[in-house]
Amino acid sequence: MKKHNFYAGPSILPQFTIGKTAEAVKDFSGTGLSIMEISHRSKEFIAVMDEAQALFKELLNIPDGYSVLFIGGGASTQFAMVPFNIMNKKAAYLNTGSWAKKAIKEAKYFGEVDVVASSEDKNFNYIPKGYKIPEDADYFHITTNNTIYGTEIREDINSPVPLVADMSSDIFSRPVDVSKYVIIYGGAQKNLAPAGVTFVIIKNDILGKVDRPIPTMLNYQTHIDKGSMFNTPPCLPVYSALQTLIWLKDNGGIEAMEKRNIEKAQLLYGEIDRNKLFVGTVEKEDRSIMNICFVMKEEYKHLEGEFFEFATSKGMVGIKGHRSVGGFRASTYNALPKESIEALIAAMQEFESIK
Ligand SMILES: *Cc1c(COP(=O)(O)O)cnc(C)c1O
Repeated sequence: MKKHNFYAGPSILPQFTIGKTAEAVKDFSGTGLSIMEISHRSKEFIAVMDEAQALFKELLNIPDGYSVLFIGGGASTQFAMVPFNIMNKKAAYLNTGSWAKKAIKEAKYFGEVDVVASSEDKNFNYIPKGYKIPEDADYFHITTNNTIYGTEIREDINSPVPLVADMSSDIFSRPVDVSKYVIIYGGAQKNLAPAGVTFVIIKNDILGKVDRPIPTMLNYQTHIDKGSMFNTPPCLPVYSALQTLIWLKDNGGIEAMEKRNIEKAQLLYGEIDRNKLFVGTVEKEDRSIMNICFVMKEEYKHLEGEFFEFATSKGMVGIKGHRSVGGFRASTYNALPKESIEALIAAMQEFESIK
């Protein structure tokens, strides 16, 4: 049976990426060696790294003066690396969920953290609005897509201080005005590549303004100076990331992705709103187009386990909601075909008709 992969991360990748990676595992770039056993200093791998960085910049329209890094450590290491490198005294954070809270916790090791607003009062089911960003903060940190709760900031906000964003789960889902940010980072395993590589887009001139010593590997400047080759980069995930970028370009680039993503999300939200059994968990205006969270209405709550089994029998994989929300979560990343959304909707409708 065809599987419909709704996992939140690691998550669905284009078949193109998987096929190309499988080939390179056996014979990388005609070298007769596997991508897993070739030096990262080989000319063939250096070409991969260079092309991945160039295509990343091209697709996101990244202005001059920015670097793109592919490093290890996951988005979770970025929670500490950001304040380590650019926080002098004080930083502002928007608390929109578990990942934001983890970022806040790390920032507190480096100075004062001003949490300008939080949606924790309603289990993070909305994006706070009307908050004030302190002008004396070294930067303002946001999580653009809250993978667990299914809320998303889909515009590039205006910030009076340098803006930093965790875009782990919505990078490449919509065009981004990179010039409004000084750092954008994320784990690649949601919308780009297998786990193991972390991307960082960084404005070069934001660095060098803090007094504290920064250990070599945690210093962005190290990785900028060495083109992400100071130490051994995660070679295979970088190769896969390049394939996804090529796939993105061949499929119309980010504008086309956004169009498809909106269409997919509208279809599923439409069914959630129509179906008598289900209800969305998020304020409508803040709904994510990448992670769609829904539960069963109070009077049908007892059917959640049964629907999960039913959907599983129809090929749905990974739709269990995160434990902090419950119910269901369908992650609808770029590589998820519309057919998978239609299959999930058909399962929801069939289940409704037998209840
Ligand atoms: C998954 C995720 C993370 C954590 O990423 P790791 O690479 O596992 O450290 C951080 N932020 C967001 C928004 C995520 O979705």
